[in-house]
Amino acid sequence: MVIELTKRQERILQIVKDEGPITGEQIAEKLNLTRATLRPDLSILTMSGYLDARPRVGYFYAGRPGGSVISESLHKLIVNDYKAVPIVVQESASVYDAVVTLFLEDVGTLFVVNQKGYLAGVVSRKDLLRASLGNKALEDMLVTIIMTRMPNIMTCSAEETLFEAAKKLITYQIDSLPVVKASETDSRQYELLGRVTKTTIAKAFVELGQEPQV
Ligand code: ADP
Repeated sequence: MVIELTKRQERILQIVKDEGPITGEQIAEKLNLTRATLRPDLSILTMSGYLDARPRVGYFYAGRPGGSVISESLHKLIVNDYKAVPIVVQESASVYDAVVTLFLEDVGTLFVVNQKGYLAGVVSRKDLLRASLGNKALEDMLVTIIMTRMPNIMTCSAEETLFEAAKKLITYQIDSLPVVKASETDSRQYELLGRVTKTTIAKAFVELGQEPQV
């Protein structure tokens, strides 16, 4: 669990870092607060592992608790820095065209765009498999018949964190999210900026693990 420190808790940490061991009384004095006001903050900081308390000596700085270093860097990753190129087909494409594109581009999900280039739908590999089963006329079937269409598409923005995008993949049990921006002329229409897939998340995960620990 990530605990977000308040401004006051950050100041307490700084004081203890600079001047510890230091008593609760002394910290309170420095902040012009009463010892009682400070008590909840001190117990949060102690329980979450930032501070160590020794009776009659005072508070010591114990360091950022383990795990929070990882989650801090994790929550800094932004979709825009990790997104991949979206692979698209036109609304006029057939299921056959979509299957060929899926293989040629080596992806698991295609986005369908309308004539203006806005997002119209999503087709996954299972959508295509399902349509192909027992169906010989794949050239004659439009991809728009089988796609999941707007407005039922889960999307993410370029400014979102990768963590939020990953949570959407898990929550909605999908492999891929289009990265979109609302059109300036019609806010219900989405321009496609990229895609975030489970592979994107796996790559970021590996990159995080290789980061030198500081
Ligand atoms: P697969 O179907 O190959 O397992 P997904 O799990 O991504 O791949 O897709 C499951 C279903 O959800 C498919 O019918 C697909 O059209 C739809 N889908 C995929 N991505 C999205 C999305 N971003 N928003 C809404 N529906 C989606």
